[in-house]
Amino acid sequence: MENKAIATPGRTKEILTKTGFSFKKSLGQNFLVDVNILKNMLHHAGINEHTAAIEIGPGIGALTEQLALRAASVTAFEIDQRLVPVLKEELSPYGNVTILNQDILEADVEELVGELQRQSDEVRVVANLPYYITTPILMKLLMEHLNFQSITVMIQKEVAERMSASPNTKSYGSLSIAVQYYTTASIPMIVPKSVFMPQPNVDSAVLHLEKRDVPPVDVDDEDFFFEMVRASFKQRRKTLMNNLGSFFKGTLEKPEIRQRMEDAGIDPGRRGESLSMEEFAALANAFSPVGK
Ligand code: SAM
Repeated sequence: MENKAIATPGRTKEILTKTGFSFKKSLGQNFLVDVNILKNMLHHAGINEHTAAIEIGPGIGALTEQLALRAASVTAFEIDQRLVPVLKEELSPYGNVTILNQDILEADVEELVGELQRQSDEVRVVANLPYYITTPILMKLLMEHLNFQSITVMIQKEVAERMSASPNTKSYGSLSIAVQYYTTASIPMIVPKSVFMPQPNVDSAVLHLEKRDVPPVDVDDEDFFFEMVRASFKQRRKTLMNNLGSFFKGTLEKPEIRQRMEDAGIDPGRRGESLSMEEFAALANAFSPVGK
């Protein structure tokens, strides 16, 4: 049955021709046409018959179909109303798929996760994301403290590298800290452009994020911690002393800033990119009574 999967060039072309569908670039519509890539992705995602899967952007159902074959249920958010009848038709052989014609950024995902959590052993998010809103989607899912186990997404390779980066690398920045505060991040697969229709301009990667039960560091004030991280990377080539000097301008004098950094055990001459998450936590906690 493999050659009949939606995620094949032949079947995808057939569906596009039959329905007269035209791609909307503005919605990040690049459909996957390689079923082996999807099988491998779902293996890394840990999908099994006990999983309630949430998909974002099902397109014509390439990934949805593979999820339906392996998971207990699939709930998919698709913004493009033209795709709803196509999905209903192509996925009609599967009784475990629900299509919601909603913008994921507007959707009440918390309510859905709660409902799925009551019915299933585990809830996992899997998607080939629309690349123009990768970061807002992932930050929404992470910051709402939703009760799911993992997120496995195909995204632009460069963004996956930034989200999973370690200190002292070119890709390390405030996005790495934001993502790794909530999850442990890994890149199990690099995906070539050639497996998409139409082909995007950039290479892709699968990013796997396993939710942490508790944050890896203790911070006095989460919002302030993230503000300090962003301030420390504001001008990458500048020292922490310079970046924090600008951040606290009008609030704290330079000697006071230097003193607090030293109290936290951080040399003011270092750059943000050299600090681990633990060091950022110590830094933020040394300043949090001051705030901004
Ligand atoms: N899952 C399909 C596949 O792998 O072939 C399609 C992936 S395509 C990269 C992204 C999909 O996300 C498109 O179907 C697009 O219409 C949908 N999309 C774009 N913005 C969205 C949003 N804000 N909410 C929900 N879906 C969205």
